[in-house]
Amino acid sequence: MEFKKSHKLYNKGLVNLVGAVNSPVRAFASVGGNPLFIEKAKGSKIKDVDGNSFIDLVLSYGPMILGHRHPKVQKAITKALKNGYSFGASTANEIKLAKIVCDAFPGMDKVRFVNSGTEAVLSGIRLARAYTGKDKIIKFAGCYHGHQDSLLVAAGSGLATLSLPGSKGVPEGAVKNTLIANYNDLDSVKAHFEKHDDIAGVILEPVAGNMGVVIPQDDFLKELKAFLESKGALLIVDEVMTGFRSKFGGAQELLGVEADITCLGKVIGGGFPVGAYGARNEIMENVAPLGGMYQAGTLSGNPIAMAAGISTLTELKKQNPYEFFDKVAAIIERSLLTSAQKYGVELTVNRFGSMINPFFTSKHVTNFEEAQSSDTKKFAVFFWEMIKNGVFLPPSQFEAWFLSSALSSKDIEKIKKAIDNSMEAVSKMEA
Ligand SMILES: *Cc1c(COP(=O)(O)O)cnc(C)c1O
Repeated sequence: MEFKKSHKLYNKGLVNLVGAVNSPVRAFASVGGNPLFIEKAKGSKIKDVDGNSFIDLVLSYGPMILGHRHPKVQKAITKALKNGYSFGASTANEIKLAKIVCDAFPGMDKVRFVNSGTEAVLSGIRLARAYTGKDKIIKFAGCYHGHQDSLLVAAGSGLATLSLPGSKGVPEGAVKNTLIANYNDLDSVKAHFEKHDDIAGVILEPVAGNMGVVIPQDDFLKELKAFLESKGALLIVDEVMTGFRSKFGGAQELLGVEADITCLGKVIGGGFPVGAYGARNEIMENVAPLGGMYQAGTLSGNPIAMAAGISTLTELKKQNPYEFFDKVAAIIERSLLTSAQKYGVELTVNRFGSMINPFFTSKHVTNFEEAQSSDTKKFAVFFWEMIKNGVFLPPSQFEAWFLSSALSSKDIEKIKKAIDNSMEAVSKMEA
């Protein structure tokens, strides 16, 4: 497999782009080598500029849940393009997508569309503060909520991949109202409430996907919600990754918990820049123009993005691929564990719906610290073998793999074979 053209573009990109990428998660920093440049994608597959074709388990880090260029979505976008690209005024499609989203989340009466997951979360946090009149927010180590200043501490994702503790350029003042707790550890939340009486709420990923996949244990979420209610603090659920991934709607319902504020992104834009935050009326009425919390956006509710979102969610509801996802994830899990055992590689696999990933560690992974016990060198070898075997994975031990409904049984067989070959390569590296 050759990567000549990608290498050439990479070197060219280094001149006017930072590291030749527009998001650090796309750099191959932790797996070595240079990032692949993509030419196009269709269905379950993605093709690089050298003509190599891969089964895509990155899916743009989640949004492309139907696979690439689903005909229905393509048609809707093409139609929308003919009417104009942006108006700075409302359109009927914004109301349509709002209804689809609100109907899918039991606790959501109103929603506001923004342009990214980062924006969705920073607005959701501002809303929690506006509504409660309190300043402090608790977040969990290893959960990523976008790159806004106040939440860029112990933030997983690209930071974990690059082993960065937080970010330079974030002033102390910006994080002084951020408290860190441990995932799956309610006592670590309670301890903060004992010390502080100005906590507006807790933000979390209902299933963490940015330290690898980490699942909430037992009744962690339910107990957290009940505790927060007793303290008059809000539960802000960041479903930017999980929204519409494990069921139509959020992970909240599956896990038996209802958010006060929900943040969305990724899937709801079908590959276009859309984020959203929503809540019950009483909370959303604090947002301008109804209330005093200001939040705005020149391109928010962009007509092309709305068309992509509506068609993606409509098709997703029709396909209802959630049982399929569960089945495929179980097959991949079995394949990973079987091959790991066969070649004597220590491995843990976590999965939830259409999110799955292996950790190269013997430990159960229930929090950030345990995730970080993984052997990232083994992952790097595994990653490149998967590439050579025609499967495109996120280039990091700490990112989830995503499934699309476009995966065929042939694709799944190919993934299994690739896993077996790659695990063998990992075992040889140990010797
Ligand atoms: C991806 C992600 C974000 C940030 O979304 P962007 O669109 O990249 O700004 C926030 N929270 C979670 C849980 C995410 O997975």
